[in-house]
Amino acid sequence: MNIVFKPISSPDSRPLGFHVMTLGKGVPKICFVCGIHGDEITPHYLIQKLCAVEEKLPVSLAIVLDANPRALAVQQRETPDDKLDLNRVFPGNPEGNITERIADALYHYVQEFELIIELHTFERMDMEAFCIIPTADGTLNERALDILAGFEPWYVWKPNIQTNSEGKYKGALGTTLAGSGKPAFVIEFPSVRVLNDKELDMYAERLIRMLSGIGAPVQRNFHLIERIEGKAPTAGLFTPCARLHIEVKPGECIGELFSIENGERTEVCVSSAGILFQIRHRGLVKKDEPLYALGVPAGGAHE
Ligand SMILES: [Zn+2]
Repeated sequence: MNIVFKPISSPDSRPLGFHVMTLGKGVPKICFVCGIHGDEITPHYLIQKLCAVEEKLPVSLAIVLDANPRALAVQQRETPDDKLDLNRVFPGNPEGNITERIADALYHYVQEFELIIELHTFERMDMEAFCIIPTADGTLNERALDILAGFEPWYVWKPNIQTNSEGKYKGALGTTLAGSGKPAFVIEFPSVRVLNDKELDMYAERLIRMLSGIGAPVQRNFHLIERIEGKAPTAGLFTPCARLHIEVKPGECIGELFSIENGERTEVCVSSAGILFQIRHRGLVKKDEPLYALGVPAGGAHE
């Protein structure tokens, strides 16, 4: 294992840059990117697992550990200096604000690899790890689909950046890479707080199996979906009452909100049909915070 620091020209008096770990022998062709959001640390626990079995890795890996170093330092999603979400400003700007400079440096750094895999965490949702296949114009990268199939995800979400709600993903690293024809995808993991050591081992093993399977024939046993997000109709304590992976119909109740101001109970009902693939953990939520996500079959062209 070897870690190097990649400096970025800083617009203030504090040094700026990210750390890249290399695992395995030889020049890596695959890059994992962790820490784009500073509050998402499940991937780092998985990297720790990969370090422990470095000699068993089927390929060498470059791993960006702290893609947004300032956000990771304070464990917040956005860069504290300018309050921007790094994954909304790609391809960045070398002379812009801190977040845009980081985006520019990262975007250029990952160009040397044949495949880029972003690792993220959904902190508040109960879910099975799933993949996102980014697309700039609706076409999907077939090589990326073959490789992510090796991770054996239940769901692969195809964002639709033409819609108002998902237009924000235009500035995501994956979308920008997909637009330039680079194979790239995202894996979203559950919060490390709800995973035990065995489950972390299982996810690390699935990453290794995925890497071992590159180039071999694959079966795409996943649901390619579009994601419909459901929001809290009111503020309150959320108690989920539905199991993951069930098919729901419009009007079906999937949980309840209890107002701590007036004691009122509000049922949370889904607005459309689909598979329930994410549901919020218990917690106090604000009005319009995401409570669940449904998957509906995605159409669209493949490359
Ligand atoms: Zn993220």
